[in-house]
Amino acid sequence: MTNTPVALTLNAGSSSLKFGLFSIGAAPVEMAVGLIESIGKTPKLKASFGPGMPPLSRDLTPAEARDHKSALATALAVLRQHFPEAKATAVGHRVVHGGPSYDRPMRLTPEVMEELRRLSPFAPIHQPHNLAGIEAAIEAFPDALQVACFDTAFHRTHPKVNDVFALPRAYYDKGVRRYGFHGLSYDYIGGELKRIAPLIHDGRVIVAHLGNGASMCGMINGRSVASTMGFTALDGLPMGTRTGQIDPGVIFYLVQQEGMSIDEVREMFYSKSGLLGLSGLSNDMRALEAAGTAQANEAIDYFVFRIRRELGGLAAALGGLDALVFCGGIGENSRLIRERVCEGMGWIGLELDRERNAAGDTMISTDLSRARIMVIPTNEELVIARAAKTFVEMRQGGSGIPGPDQR
Ligand code: ADP
Repeated sequence: MTNTPVALTLNAGSSSLKFGLFSIGAAPVEMAVGLIESIGKTPKLKASFGPGMPPLSRDLTPAEARDHKSALATALAVLRQHFPEAKATAVGHRVVHGGPSYDRPMRLTPEVMEELRRLSPFAPIHQPHNLAGIEAAIEAFPDALQVACFDTAFHRTHPKVNDVFALPRAYYDKGVRRYGFHGLSYDYIGGELKRIAPLIHDGRVIVAHLGNGASMCGMINGRSVASTMGFTALDGLPMGTRTGQIDPGVIFYLVQQEGMSIDEVREMFYSKSGLLGLSGLSNDMRALEAAGTAQANEAIDYFVFRIRRELGGLAAALGGLDALVFCGGIGENSRLIRERVCEGMGWIGLELDRERNAAGDTMISTDLSRARIMVIPTNEELVIARAAKTFVEMRQGGSGIPGPDQR
């Protein structure tokens, strides 16, 4: 492993830092992945180091993850303990917003950093954390290639009609558009479909990324045609703590009649709504499934209802449906949600095989189902590692930006 190039992947959320270490000699191979959560509060660390190695799970002291910088230092110390020889040739960052122009990963030059700072107002809750993570990584690895992978990039193939809001035109030019997010996950699923089911990949596919953040994407031939998230990662499906689609008139009402400030509304929409808001109990689907209270059930009902609505809408945008793919923590693990989403969906060609669904198979539709139903575990970190590897190879062999086929 000593001479094999290694890439570190970083995914800085508002209160979490996901990290990964990949050997990128040939196809990227995962050496370690981990997560520090509750940064600045009661931080916890979880990490795994491949087969045969015991996973790590422990509470951290507040000083070990006071902020993103100290959390990165803690993550690096853990990685060094396990891989003392490894030296990162490249650091790949998940960056939430790449604006209208970045449709592929970019090497982080001062000019690109400047553009990402300019885009911060478009993602005020996430982009500053991504930038802080990048700055901390540049300080820790001054010689490494720093690469940004954007959640929005995958959706730049949207037709314009799905990029616009019906606002006065000037706002489109200012960047007020439907960007779409979770692009790294959709990119990974598209690649997996191409590998394991190429005919399905070439067709009309809806991917439901159902995690704490949740969205859906309609693809044709592996390219995004439409998605449920829009200008921000707040739109579309209800999520753990986010509202999902909401009539903007509600905002006017809350501000003008309830006397809430815009910051209070934003905090409520991002952090107190969704499954948590409706259930009054938890943002965690496992807790809601176990609770069985009327309010928890209502929260699940709404989640399922909105997924089914979007399924119909996206299928219309695609002109039909050849496959539905579930991924994300809920999509990969909750047989109940998959069953409820697919119930009575024969009209759109979806027929779930309950036994395959319960067994956790990859293909969970019946043999007679007109459209396939699949479960594919997503891997955003691997997409970042692949981009880092491409840039390392380009540094060795020339320069330029990788084309979409290398994303
Ligand atoms: P994030 O968007 O933070 O990456 P994840 O993709 O890890 O989130 O998904 C987290 C969600 O997945 C939580 O709501 C969690 O309850 C849910 N989840 C994980 N395992 C299960 C399970 N076995 N059954 C139902 N939900 C699950």
